Amino acid sequence: MALITQRDELLEAVKEMDRLGLVSGSSGNASVRIDAPGSPNAFLITPAGLPYPSMTSDQLVAVDNDLYPIDGDGVPSSESLLHLAIYTARPDVNAIMHTHSLHATALGVAGRPLPAIVDELVVYVGGAVQVAKYGFPGTEALAQAGVDALGDRRAVLIPHHGMFAVADTVSEALRVCALVERVAQVFINAEAIGGAKEVAEGSFKAERRMYLERSGLGH
Ligand SMILES: [Zn+2]
Repeated sequence: MALITQRDELLEAVKEMDRLGLVSGSSGNASVRIDAPGSPNAFLITPAGLPYPSMTSDQLVAVDNDLYPIDGDGVPSSESLLHLAIYTARPDVNAIMHTHSLHATALGVAGRPLPAIVDELVVYVGGAVQVAKYGFPGTEALAQAGVDALGDRRAVLIPHHGMFAVADTVSEALRVCALVERVAQVFINAEAIGGAKEVAEGSFKAERRMYLERSGLGH
């Protein structure tokens, strides 16, 4: 896909992320994998410190495997290390979104993973969402901890911070962020009225695969 089209899609997704209230101010970020000669894990990412409503597509920054800016005007997001670590560990991932939504962040603050309590979480995320080990924002330690806790799933909670979602496209990553936030709210409410019960995850792996194949979402 042409870089100019990827710029438009990424910009549209982060503006929607902002409208949905999944971040506040200039927090959060998102990226998409791009084609760059000699850099298999190059990506286009939102700039650091700029508000989303007035963000323009030329402020999105393309970086190579060494996080060296190769196209665009802005300064790459301070969480670029974690994005790079995910693209390197997960060749199946083509888009990443990071949000600070309230209920997902609350779970990370409490150190509580989000169990597989609704079918949608099993289908779209692959099961429970784990909490990564703590690492200070922007560090190598956080990048490694995030990748480890993500495993082969589509979301991970970052303690005392927020969450990351991964997908094939940035609009899918946005859907995963919104889903995890909603299920986190359901979980907290269910815990308050007597306790949330988990879906028996292992019992319908085959059904999940069939569902994803039917809906064209892959694995
Ligand atoms: Zn953040």
